[in-house]
Amino acid sequence: MSTCIFCRIARGEAPARVVLELPRVIAFHDIRPLAPVHVLVVPREHVASLWELTDPQLAGELLASAAQVARQLDLERGFRLIANTRDDGGQEVAHLHLHVLGGRSLGPMLARRV
Ligand code: 5GP
Ligand code: ZN
Repeated sequence: MSTCIFCRIARGEAPARVVLELPRVIAFHDIRPLAPVHVLVVPREHVASLWELTDPQLAGELLASAAQVARQLDLERGFRLIANTRDDGGQEVAHLHLHVLGGRSLGPMLARRV
């Protein structure tokens, strides 16, 4: 059994504030929120990052789940979806997740530095 923290949350072995549960996807509040709404949308199966995601059905379910979370949490003014991927993407947890951020104006996408 994987000791990966998001695998453990998906199996119900570690606590989380869950907002959406589907057969292949779970969404829960980030433990260190960066916005009034900060939810992580996660596949239940261990996929290390977006780089490893090859199942288009699962990709669609993750995207649709993110939109459902946004509607459920009343983000009609808008929100941002982020998938930090591998080292240059700043990924810290090596289990694929989409960040749903909203509840305030989020400003520019990135600091202007190339
Ligand atoms: P990354 O940098 O990998 O895209 O983001 C990982 C996110 O997972 C961070 O925003 C971090 O706060 C969140 N996180 C890490 N460990 C836990 C945890 O045990 N529970 C929850 N709910 N979020 C976590
Ligand atoms: Zn995992």
